[in-house]
Amino acid sequence: MTPTPSCLRSPRAGWISFANDTPPYREIEMTDPNRKRILDKVDASKDEAVRFLQKMVTIPSVTGDEAAIQAFLHGYLNTIGLDVDIWDTDWEELKKHPGYRPVARGYEGRPNIVANAKGSGGGRSLLLNGHTDVIPVGNGEGWSDNPWSAKIENGRIYGRGSCDMKSGVASHILAVQYLKELGIDLKGDVLINIVIDEEVSGHGTLDTVIRGYSADAGISGETSDLHVQPACIGRIWFEIEIQGKPAGIQQRYLGVSGIMLGQKIVAAVQEMEDERVATVKHPLYPSAIDSLPCIIGSFQAGNYPSAFPATALLKGSIGTVPGEDHEGVKQSLVKKIAEAAAKDPWMKDHPLWCVSSATMPRPPRSRVTMPSCKPFPATIRKSPARSRPSADARVLPIPASSTAMVIPPR
Ligand SMILES: [Zn+2]
Repeated sequence: MTPTPSCLRSPRAGWISFANDTPPYREIEMTDPNRKRILDKVDASKDEAVRFLQKMVTIPSVTGDEAAIQAFLHGYLNTIGLDVDIWDTDWEELKKHPGYRPVARGYEGRPNIVANAKGSGGGRSLLLNGHTDVIPVGNGEGWSDNPWSAKIENGRIYGRGSCDMKSGVASHILAVQYLKELGIDLKGDVLINIVIDEEVSGHGTLDTVIRGYSADAGISGETSDLHVQPACIGRIWFEIEIQGKPAGIQQRYLGVSGIMLGQKIVAAVQEMEDERVATVKHPLYPSAIDSLPCIIGSFQAGNYPSAFPATALLKGSIGTVPGEDHEGVKQSLVKKIAEAAAKDPWMKDHPLWCVSSATMPRPPRSRVTMPSCKPFPATIRKSPARSRPSADARVLPIPASSTAMVIPPR
């Protein structure tokens, strides 16, 4: 495998390989007589598939700006002869759902899509779920090229969203398209679900459920080096507000810095990660360090270069494995933070605010827990493929009746 040039790496930019080197996937035995036809079709369509993905990557689609990519895919799905349902989320209705998380903007002009490849009848249905929104590209740091270039270099395509997860969406669409072109009829329906706003809230998938879609099984094309994921990690988001003691800059020694206090909380959260990685076990996630991130991902403090920073706002998240008690994990966080605060001469007497916890000194203001998905049936759990958590934990959340797994693109 050709190493990724470091100059082309960017946080979560990802890459996807089209090189003719040794593929990391496993052959899955397919006894159906159509097996060879399908594989030949995939091989023969390689260049076309790459161009399709490149086109998707060249369409910027940072969360909130998904109109163009959804319009492109809507048109494409129509051209391959699928029944397409495309709709804007009703924000007010969404707010009534227990799975709703507060977001800053609404959904006008940001449609979700379900395209139905209807089966001939008598079979089970399958829903292929994927998102087209991507995280911001920043200010160009870490990029050696236009983030939307979709440039191919050394057999890999580069660009924001190429990995997470336009490649997954492309694979869903093309799989259905190729079956249709081969004239292979399925008994059950295959629903291609292409959603917006996954990176911020997961509301696109939630709204698909609210709209009434369900299936006997679901596959999400999230990323994980082609490792089959028969389960899904969970994630708890939290915020901690720290109030130090204000002071003028000349008499700053009379104040208590929110930045200095915040550093102690960051260290406590790191301690919690170390403890969880050492103690929490799950057979589907043997690499605990990959599965159990517990971090402060955002640290905001102060508001002016020459003013004393008395406050800090820390935002973080905790990864969980299937079956974990989220309330228990939250209480562990609260305990850890409380212990750190008790050792500090200021914080021991000045309570912190912790959102997404019911047991901190002040009441919670909102709850932003991402649920773990149900484990997949035992037959799937026996899959020889290794398990690794996806970059995105928001995979077919609990409100759906379907169990979920992830067939990741590379
Ligand atoms: Zn994703």
